[in-house]
Amino acid sequence: MNETCKNLLTTLGIAGASYTEGTLPVHSPIDGARIGLVQEASAAAMHVAVGCALQAQQEWRHLPAPRRGELVRLFGAELRAHKSELAALVAIEAGKVTSEGLGEVQEMIDICDFAVGLSRQLHGLTIASERPGHRMMEQWLPLGVVGIISAFNFPVAVWAWNAALALVCGNSCVWKPSEKTPLTALATQALFERAVAKFGSAPAHLSQVLNGGAALGEAMADDARVALVSATGSTRMGRAVGPRVAARFGRCLLELGGNNAIIVAPSADLDLALRGILFGAYGTAGQRCTTTRRVIIHASIHAELLARLERARASLLVGNPLEAGALIGPLIDGAAFAAMESALAAAREQGGEVHGGGRALAQAYPQAWYARPALAVMPAQTAVVKQETFAPILYVLKYQSLEEAIALQNDVPQGLSSAIFTNDLREAEIFMAAGGSDCGIANVNIGTSGAEIGGAFGGEKETGGGRESGSDAWRAYMRRTTNTINYSRDLPLAQGVRFDV
Ligand code: NAD
Repeated sequence: MNETCKNLLTTLGIAGASYTEGTLPVHSPIDGARIGLVQEASAAAMHVAVGCALQAQQEWRHLPAPRRGELVRLFGAELRAHKSELAALVAIEAGKVTSEGLGEVQEMIDICDFAVGLSRQLHGLTIASERPGHRMMEQWLPLGVVGIISAFNFPVAVWAWNAALALVCGNSCVWKPSEKTPLTALATQALFERAVAKFGSAPAHLSQVLNGGAALGEAMADDARVALVSATGSTRMGRAVGPRVAARFGRCLLELGGNNAIIVAPSADLDLALRGILFGAYGTAGQRCTTTRRVIIHASIHAELLARLERARASLLVGNPLEAGALIGPLIDGAAFAAMESALAAAREQGGEVHGGGRALAQAYPQAWYARPALAVMPAQTAVVKQETFAPILYVLKYQSLEEAIALQNDVPQGLSSAIFTNDLREAEIFMAAGGSDCGIANVNIGTSGAEIGGAFGGEKETGGGRESGSDAWRAYMRRTTNTINYSRDLPLAQGVRFDV
């Protein structure tokens, strides 16, 4: 493993010292082996980096946006050229199965393409003025330094969602990746630097990466020169970061935990529903913010779907994610496994009938944490069901009326992703309407996870309210100015106010 990892890092252009000399140990969740030691940045280093980023932004903001898009296009080309190497590193450092590692890098490529097009579409409105000889308009201008805090489970794609948009919008970036996945961050930075070299005229320090833990993230959150802190991670992290940024009137974009449900209605295509639930609940070992954590099944099909789900669950192959056939890789660490075990114990205590769970592959990988996927048939939506446990546990609930199903789906603190499987048009529309799902994502006949970059991504309530990626999410990375232009020879006041001198 170490040799493979070393070769990948070398191909991706990372000097040996940057992953062998430091104080932050990096382990692969695949076998628990140490694969690196990286330099941890101090709060003082963050202070310096933000200063450099500010300087870079003050130059970058003057370049025409389509020219800024050219840098992102070049970066996208680097990603295309090194897709397999970066994906393999994602698999080794985050424990994703190969196709999901490749999917993660594809998502980076997709957002680069989107951002390049966007660089010619950063448009504002013109607005009718109430005053004669006046015109009003709004412009979207670069914001400043964008700070990005990311989670381990999408170690590089989440940064790309933010950085590609931030850069075309005329900003510089400072990235604090998860302390569990610093190597993929260094590799991404190396690819970005290659694009910068080809671009030729980008200011130094346009995008920087600083490795470290929560304290380093807090230093970023507290720095008043960081105009926007885009933070992805647990709700616990959001509760710490949000108020700090708000205290200095900074802008925050929060992408926090989810507790996503699929409703399966009597008219649903059960083959489709089964596939959607299985990937949603157990893909990525249940470590996606959009993982399907609850399935709410109509009483008339509950027994049939449950039996099929249970059969399929028991047959899922847990294994080394680098080996062909494995569908479920390891959990990120021992703490994640302990959290899964304690959630399953709580589910039992709260009246649940639990299938699966427990440690897998302990003999082959004694220092890694593979878990058997679990299914818990619950008598009601109890306390444990309302929590996000970042592991492959699917809670199964039963409903009688659509109203009851929607109420159950909404009755959790999180509001990220949701779905209904139905062939009844009326039910689908009710689910998506004002009284339906309260989530940022509401799907019909596809599962809760695996969003495309074209739509705005994010959720409500404890998920934090932020939106990233497609649609008009770019506006979060710009500041709006309203301009009123007087081309008359008078100075009429608005609302007919008189101030005659
Ligand atoms: P985490 O909250 O432990 O860490 C996320 C990041 O926040 C890391 O970089 C960490 O160092 C940093 N951090 C932690 N505490 C901080 C603090 N007090 N101040 C500043 N930074 C701090 O999350 P994780 O275990 O890496 O990731 C899993 C969580 O992320 C899950 O809850 C998942 O739902 C969520 N997530 C959400 C989205 C989304 O788009 N909504 C996407 C991916 C992951």
